[in-house]
Amino acid sequence: MAKIAFIGLGNMGGPMAANLAKAQHHVTAFDLSDAALNTAVEKGAHKAASAAEAVKGAEIVVTMLPAGKHVREVYEKDVLPNVAKGTLLIDCSTIDVDSARHVAALADKAGMEMIDAPVSGGVGGATAGTLTFMVGGKDGAFAKAKAVLEKMGKNIVHAGGSGNGQAAKICNNMVLGVSMIAVSEAFMLAKRLGLDAQKLFDVASTSSGQCWSLTNYCPVPGPVPTSPANRDYQAGFTAAMMLKDLVLAQQAANAAGASTPLGAEAAQLFNLFVNSGHGGKDFSGIVQMLDGK
Ligand code: NAD
Repeated sequence: MAKIAFIGLGNMGGPMAANLAKAQHHVTAFDLSDAALNTAVEKGAHKAASAAEAVKGAEIVVTMLPAGKHVREVYEKDVLPNVAKGTLLIDCSTIDVDSARHVAALADKAGMEMIDAPVSGGVGGATAGTLTFMVGGKDGAFAKAKAVLEKMGKNIVHAGGSGNGQAAKICNNMVLGVSMIAVSEAFMLAKRLGLDAQKLFDVASTSSGQCWSLTNYCPVPGPVPTSPANRDYQAGFTAAMMLKDLVLAQQAANAAGASTPLGAEAAQLFNLFVNSGHGGKDFSGIVQMLDGK
């Protein structure tokens, strides 16, 4: 089994590291938070005193950090100066495409193989080991990483060269953000027209309005019992996280010269929702703002 260093043991990284330890890999873990680190140790990881210590002697390094600046910093200060040539580097954080490509280029220069491998599936998927991984990087690095990713996820898609995993992630989440607003607007229009939510669901879920935001994550209580709408919009996937991904999509669209007017509008609406104090709510809670609440 492989010697794996795991850095960033938060809501997602914690259960992902636990699944690697459960699969009998030797996991050496580090997080700035003692609580997160101790939980990982309880789940079978070995404690390191720093990120630099964790990666020394590792065959594979996995990072699961909040944003691009954390990934750049950890790779530049801790990972790249301390790993042996040939070490496989896997960054699972959701970050901007530029940072992903920058770090991959530094790794390549230092003789390391690196992939960006952001995930979808949330904390539930991280815990159950059923995440979807969207991978950017060279064929050889993808082939080496696949067996490890399979211990944490179910669908592993090679999306192309460095940064393409991040590109796939933000494109998907831009669809999700826009579609959640569209579905929410439809339910609020129905309400004002005197059309029952369940009736709209019965029609749209079997018609051309069908989409994941409607049938799996319906933003109004009732039609889909497992959706956050039935538990006062307890997250799930927070509105703050959705805003982060929509902003990343807008930055990428501006840099690449892509027209994404609905993505821009979705980013603005989630910005309003988050900055009026609802960042911790599930993102489907935006329906309440559209309802004037
Ligand atoms: P989190 O805030 O719970 O965890 C991040 C962890 O990184 C924290 O424990 C923090 O202490 C640690 N950290 C920060 N800087 C560090 C450093 N320099 N060295 C060591 N540890 C450091 O976040 P999360 O929900 O686990 O999300 C992690 C990433 O996964 C984010 O990029 C997020 O966008 C992405 N993501 C999250 C979800 C979700 O549902 N939570 C779903 C898909 C993708």
